[in-house]
Amino acid sequence: MNLEILRQATLGPSSSRGQDKPCQNCSKPFTIEPEDFAFYEKIKVPAPTFCPKCRRQRRMAWRNDFNFYSRTCDLCKKQIVSLYAPDKRFPVYCNKCWWSDQWDAKDYAADFNFSRPFFEQFVELQNRVPALALINDDGIGSVNCQYTHDFSFGRNCYMVLLAWKLEDSLYGHEVIKAKEVVDAMSSFGDCELSYESICTQQCYRSTNIYYSFSVKDMHFCYDCRDSSDCFLSIGLRHKRFYVKNKQYSEEEYKRIIAEYRLDTHNGRERAKKEFGEFIMKYPRRYANLKNCVASIGDDLINSKNCHYVFNAFNAEDSKYFENGEASKDSYDILVAGEINQCYEALTPDQSYRNFFSFYSWKNMEVTYCDSCHSSKYLFGCVGLKKGEYCIFNKQYSKEEYEKLKNRIIEHMKTTGEWGEFFPARLSRFGYNETVAQMYHPLAEEDAHAKDFQWRDSLQLTTGKETIALSDLPDSIRNISDSITNEILVCGACSRNYRIIPQELAFYRKMSLPIPRRCFLCRNAARLAFRNPFELWHRFCQCAGKSSANGVYQNQTGHAHGDAPCSNEFQTSYAPDRPEIVYCEQCYQSEVV
Ligand SMILES: [Zn+2]
Ligand SMILES: [Zn+2]
Ligand SMILES: [Zn+2]
Ligand SMILES: [Zn+2]
Ligand SMILES: [Zn+2]
Repeated sequence: MNLEILRQATLGPSSSRGQDKPCQNCSKPFTIEPEDFAFYEKIKVPAPTFCPKCRRQRRMAWRNDFNFYSRTCDLCKKQIVSLYAPDKRFPVYCNKCWWSDQWDAKDYAADFNFSRPFFEQFVELQNRVPALALINDDGIGSVNCQYTHDFSFGRNCYMVLLAWKLEDSLYGHEVIKAKEVVDAMSSFGDCELSYESICTQQCYRSTNIYYSFSVKDMHFCYDCRDSSDCFLSIGLRHKRFYVKNKQYSEEEYKRIIAEYRLDTHNGRERAKKEFGEFIMKYPRRYANLKNCVASIGDDLINSKNCHYVFNAFNAEDSKYFENGEASKDSYDILVAGEINQCYEALTPDQSYRNFFSFYSWKNMEVTYCDSCHSSKYLFGCVGLKKGEYCIFNKQYSKEEYEKLKNRIIEHMKTTGEWGEFFPARLSRFGYNETVAQMYHPLAEEDAHAKDFQWRDSLQLTTGKETIALSDLPDSIRNISDSITNEILVCGACSRNYRIIPQELAFYRKMSLPIPRRCFLCRNAARLAFRNPFELWHRFCQCAGKSSANGVYQNQTGHAHGDAPCSNEFQTSYAPDRPEIVYCEQCYQSEVV
């Protein structure tokens, strides 16, 4: 391979022709590459003034994925679950009411006032138009999926966030096309009967599976492919009956796995500990890229020419994109599916040229919009369905629309708003309610100093437990149906939680003990286990015959011989991490 192509494939495009400028927010320099300028030119927005990290944090400060509140629907008055706490100043409708034609977002139409900034006026409109309680299509495209968020096309799902096309699944985060998966994070399709997984595809009847594809009946395995009946292993290809990367006979394998008692909490804790220690002795691949061409990022599948793209598949010509599928020619997106030429948006699903928007699906040419669907040519609108040529929810003719839109853009250039995402200080959520706190944590005083909002009391039920953790039977075999009537207490955060009947049936079917942690703590543990969506420039840690730290002895000779490997790459393993990180060539030489 041509050296420059190889360099670009692992390091990203050369920045020699890019333009460096300081971030308007954090003052650190960042580079805008020539292809970035071409993208901004194509979508007709100015180049960003915030660095990629600050842009991500600003978007995230508008995104509450995990804090749900009970409140009433402001239309039908039923008790509902919502992203918005009951004390919010704007009306909130349940799904059935919001998606119905009992109200019309155009009734809230406003005239744009050229003597005031755009964002303030937009937030005023946002505060008048009813908000959707939870972003899902329960009762419309989905059936029995009430407690889901950023979710569509599902059946019988509970507490699954950022997901679509699933059935009978519980407690997931970023899950696509799956059936009976519980506690999944980044499930990329066709998983069935899996429990506790991160970055998996075609994973069947398996538990505690990480970065693995096409596996069956596997437990506590990392980066395994096309394998079945393996336990406590890493980097296996086409293997069966392996424990700790060692081959056993079928009888021996069955005896070993039975001895661990994976139906018990203690048995699984033992396996988890041994698994954590075992995988540290083996090298890791610099990035989890599968079928990718000229791309840098992590947890990326079937993608081409992507840079800083994380947790995505079928992406092309995209940058600073995370969590989603089929993104084409799009930048700065936080969760999306099937998008083309989109920029700075939260879940602009199935859209073409959707810019600076929140949860607006099936649109074309919409800019600065919130919860607008199946619409075309909107600017600064909230809650419109099938709208066309509207500004601040007011209907215009095509000619009037173009004229007024251009005037507002000129106005926004003078106020410094044009081309910027909504400022975090105007967010509908406290910083600590949003995913920004998960990925860019801040103490309250720092959040205030940075002009973020803060929510004083997060809804947290504690002290209501009817059973102590120590009284929970170790094995699922000794759990009776009455467990679904009990209130449990999380061993990590003391929050109360319940086991729902569908969940109990799954644990029984899969022979799994009752979890001792609440969903939020389980999800946080998965997030901590996976690498951050960030890249560092590093060198391969293969020293020739062994890893540079001497922990791992190479099993085969490598192309670079006994001398240390000179390959460098962009990796999500920060330089101070203890894992042994190998380049693609060295890693592939060792995978068996
Ligand atoms: Zn910055
Ligand atoms: Zn309602
Ligand atoms: Zn907890
Ligand atoms: Zn190497
Ligand atoms: Zn090597």
